[in-house]
Amino acid sequence: MSNIKNCARCGKMFNYIAGEVICDVCKKEIEEKFQEVKKYIQENPGSGLRQISEECDVATKQLKKWILEERLMFTENSPIQITCENCGARIQTGRLCAKCKATVTNALNDTVKQRQQALAAEIAKKQKPADPKSGMKFLKT
Ligand SMILES: [Zn+2]
Ligand SMILES: [Zn+2]
Repeated sequence: MSNIKNCARCGKMFNYIAGEVICDVCKKEIEEKFQEVKKYIQENPGSGLRQISEECDVATKQLKKWILEERLMFTENSPIQITCENCGARIQTGRLCAKCKATVTNALNDTVKQRQQALAAEIAKKQKPADPKSGMKFLKT
């Protein structure tokens, strides 16, 4: 079951598996570029996006992508201002601040919990037609 596609970066045909339509050679090159950019930012924390783009020869679009993927972090003194998409707080990377992220995660967890509880209740109903409280009393004695 092979899925041959053209790489979105170099145009070469390759065996596509999943994710971005980018061949292994390009993936490796992008990864190497990422390491270079990461090192550059560590050594030049005061540089802006355009400067990083020019110095490292990488598209700002790619830089922004790495930021959204939470791969690139920027310190307090960086001119690159990333703000939380939800509340506008200053963040170092990604889309949301820790607080908003926690809210989103909690909301997700609640949904999962509710589903699990509903499922457990359904199973309990099927298994024990008797009052579960009387069973508890019985166990305690
Ligand atoms: Zn490629
Ligand atoms: Zn926020």
